[in-house]
Amino acid sequence: MFVADAHCDTLYEIALMGTKPESCVVTRQAMAAGGVGLQTFALFAGKHGTEGTPRADGEAMLKAVPRLGVPVFTGDLPDAPPDAPAGVISCEGGEMLEGSLERLAEFHSQARLRMIALTWNFENEIGHPAALGPEGGLKPFGFELLRAMDRLGILADVSHLNEAGFWDVCERTALPPIASHSDCRWLCDVPRNLWKEQARAIIERGGFIGVNFYSCFLRADGEAKLDDVVRHIDELCELGGEDVIGFGSDFDGIERWPDGLAGPADFPALLDELRRRGYGEATLQKLAGLNLWNLLKRAEAAAKGTGA
Ligand SMILES: [Zn+2]
Repeated sequence: MFVADAHCDTLYEIALMGTKPESCVVTRQAMAAGGVGLQTFALFAGKHGTEGTPRADGEAMLKAVPRLGVPVFTGDLPDAPPDAPAGVISCEGGEMLEGSLERLAEFHSQARLRMIALTWNFENEIGHPAALGPEGGLKPFGFELLRAMDRLGILADVSHLNEAGFWDVCERTALPPIASHSDCRWLCDVPRNLWKEQARAIIERGGFIGVNFYSCFLRADGEAKLDDVVRHIDELCELGGEDVIGFGSDFDGIERWPDGLAGPADFPALLDELRRRGYGEATLQKLAGLNLWNLLKRAEAAAKGTGA
């Protein structure tokens, strides 16, 4: 079964932390073992916000793309989901763009960005993170950026963004909003997760929610099991999210994961668990990868003006 994952921090590990590609959690071998045909690799802006060197770090990660050992689509996606491991690039932390649409154009022309998490955990030129509280929406550059992203077919990723910013995105973006790696806040109350009204808004707009495997976002006590991942998926399905839910593992960015879900090779175990809980094959295919794939294809088509 084709599996797609909306978020991992492998490029940061390789380019900035000096981890050997073969020592990362996400490797070509692990992806092949788990049936992962499409992995979204994030250019992560780093842990110092605008005080750091987000643009230079982003460029260093782009240079590391060939070291991933899987083909990365920097042009149009193929017609059908890949049947062997491949990747696409996203941006996590819009400070990498330095408040400039020129930077956006530079990164996009090299990486063909599929999604941009507008903030990480710091305020930047675009808006305010969930980590610093719900108040304060997008800034003027944030709105300008959204318009440019709509034109280029880049999805606005609200994982890490605060609530005021979230609603600004929902109101202003033409492409559907996504949360590439966030869970249900009504099950685990941490600022990185989505309230029910937020999840509902993404579902209504036909966006995407990638369930995050970080144990501390799945359960308050951080002792997550496969069961807990299923619980979050169940809840989102109950809201009508069958065509919108997928995975945003956060592998190589998390230090705790559910028992039995330590890397890409464990995706089949999660799918088996969902099967045991009564999920049918057609639904599983959507959750496993087709929902993300279809949305990426729609965004690409929208940018070309060939319909979405
Ligand atoms: Zn993140």
